[in-house]
Amino acid sequence: MAYKISDECISCGACEAGCPVNAISEGDGKYVIDADTCIDCGACADACPVGAPQAE
Ligand code: SF4
Ligand code: SF4
Repeated sequence: MAYKISDECISCGACEAGCPVNAISEGDGKYVIDADTCIDCGACADACPVGAPQAE
């Protein structure tokens, strides 16, 4: 299990700094989460203004 960022992402970057394991990086047109690194903490979902990170 991991969180995944949907196409709703507006690339604001708010989630990246809050990830405790640095699983989030800027991708092509949206931010992306490395599923192998994500520990499912949910901090990115709390930080996101548009609700883009979703638990898979
Ligand atoms: Fe990082 Fe937590 Fe979001 Fe996974 S759920 S990407 S560990 S902030
Ligand atoms: Fe995208 Fe939300 Fe992260 Fe901003 S906080 S970069 S909108 S996923």
